[in-house]
Formats: sequence, C-alpha cells, structure tokens
Amino acid sequence: MTTTTVTRELNALDRCDRCGAQAFVRAVLETSGGELFFCGHHARAVEEKLRPLTNEWQDETARLYEKPVYDDED
Ligand SMILES: [Zn+2]
Repeated sequence: MTTTTVTRELNALDRCDRCGAQAFVRAVLETSGGELFFCGHHARAVEEKLRPLTNEWQDETARLYEKPVYDDED
C-alpha cells in the first residue's frame, strides 16, 4: 500500500473558504483532488452534502473543545 497524500494537522494559517475563520476541517474532493477548508461552523453546514463527494474528510473540530496542550515536557 502506497500513501500518496500527506495528512498534516491544520494550523492557524488554514482558513475557512466560506468565512475566513480558522479552519478545522479539510476536505479532499474525490473528483478533482482539490482541497477545501472549513471552520467548525461551515463544516457542519456543508458536511451532509459535501462529505459523500470527498475521499478524505479530516475533521479536527474536536480540538475546538480541548484546552491547548503545551507538550514541552518529555
Ligand atoms: Zn466558516
């Protein structure tokens, strides 16, 4: 099995395509391979229609509800 797509964590530079807020969901379209980014709000708004058209739905919205973790021990 060969992995061709690299999944990375979304960061503050990733912006929702709809409203420009920080994106927490990355969707990869099945047809074009194009990437779409959504904030938590817009991800929920489009998920039902859009998700069946994607081959990847990277949902990091759970991070919205977590406190920031600073992992400087180790
Ligand atoms: Zn948005």
